[in-house]
Amino acid sequence: LPKRLQGSTPSVWNEYIALAMQYKPLNLGQGFPDDAAPEYVTHSLADIAKDENPLLHQYTRGYGHVRLVQALSKLYSGLVSKELNPLTDILITSGAYEALYSTIMGHVDVGDEVIIIEPFFDCYEPMVKMAGGVPRFIPLKLRKTEGEGPISSADWVLDDAEFEGLFNSKTKMIILNTPHNPIGKVFNRKELERIAELCRKWNVLCVSDEVYEWLVFDGAEHIRICTLPGMWDRTITLGSAGKTFSVTGWKIGWAYGPAQLIRNLQMVHQNSVYTCPTPLQEGVARSFEVELARLGKPESYFLSLPRELKQKRDYMAKFLSDAGMRPTIPEGGYFMLADWSPLANKVDLSSEPDKHRDYKFTKWMTKNMGLQGIPPSAFYSEPNKPLGEDFVRYCFIKKQENLDKAAELLAKWK
Ligand code: PMP
Ligand code: GLN
Repeated sequence: LPKRLQGSTPSVWNEYIALAMQYKPLNLGQGFPDDAAPEYVTHSLADIAKDENPLLHQYTRGYGHVRLVQALSKLYSGLVSKELNPLTDILITSGAYEALYSTIMGHVDVGDEVIIIEPFFDCYEPMVKMAGGVPRFIPLKLRKTEGEGPISSADWVLDDAEFEGLFNSKTKMIILNTPHNPIGKVFNRKELERIAELCRKWNVLCVSDEVYEWLVFDGAEHIRICTLPGMWDRTITLGSAGKTFSVTGWKIGWAYGPAQLIRNLQMVHQNSVYTCPTPLQEGVARSFEVELARLGKPESYFLSLPRELKQKRDYMAKFLSDAGMRPTIPEGGYFMLADWSPLANKVDLSSEPDKHRDYKFTKWMTKNMGLQGIPPSAFYSEPNKPLGEDFVRYCFIKKQENLDKAAELLAKWK
């Protein structure tokens, strides 16, 4: 086994997808919409299949299909108030997942330290380790105490002294995720300014995973950290067509930033993936063109989707609370973290051999209640896994009838 793979184990996704296949629960686990994506998005693929241009079925430009990088450059040039060169400042990847991989492999050297905020999207840690880097973790902590009313994702915060203490001359990179998976936190301007200040002070790269950039609720503002003073030249921002257009199976993502940083990603991409599927990139490009024409208007999918999702968020928060759990109300994204510990006396976890209580709880729920969630300790480093054990993560970008079923299952639970 090569050194870079030592200690790698199958991810929570592999385990929980197998569990869902075996027990066929109502699956509120892995994050994907179970309803149809917008018609103009899915139908674009049918149009492409029928298009008389045969080249739509052949290899396209390795760093990104030209029509797609052009659409992205138009979109983000406006959003970040900077002219993006579609050929040098953007890379198209196999999902945001590969964008993360190419960014980390393209910048982290053996011994470099990378700051990761916990809980974190689980692949950050193994990717950093595979590059020979050293992850340095800091957990978001709940600042409210028991019984003070609903918890908001904004109540999960970094301890400033602890955060500052992580930065040193070996720090190469910080990975930020806003809106956040799994908490739903949308980092506010003050928090982002503090991160930016420390990045500038210690000459650190910022990787900003913004795959849920359009999914913000209640007037929360998604701020792109690359737009803060002095940050453009040190930030790589990641996005995902799967999240943007509700087609997670398409696995098209992107990274954008200054050419001198994106070049390193292009090299990793060229040496591993080379080029992403042409028809899918063409479909994403056409879909962006539709949205660019109505950006900011009420009919924009980027506004209608969060409007719709907010209803589902509130519905889920209510049925989880009614069942006795304590949800954190997310300001963004499509996941909800809930404290299940008030229900501990209703479950018998002795039959589940897992090390962590949230794994026991979610497995027991899948097998005995027919409802699947994700154990959040998967999103913590080994020493901090206990911080996730009282929680379960549920996904709310699901058909109303499925949310109704989940509500019923929990309501009937004695
Ligand atoms: N980052 C975060 C925070 C995510 O939740 C996901 C979802 N899978 C990804 C990256 C990867 O996105 P993609 O499906 O486009 O690879
Ligand atoms: N982002 C999704 C989630 O967090 C999907 C994860 C995955 O498939 N790796 O559930």
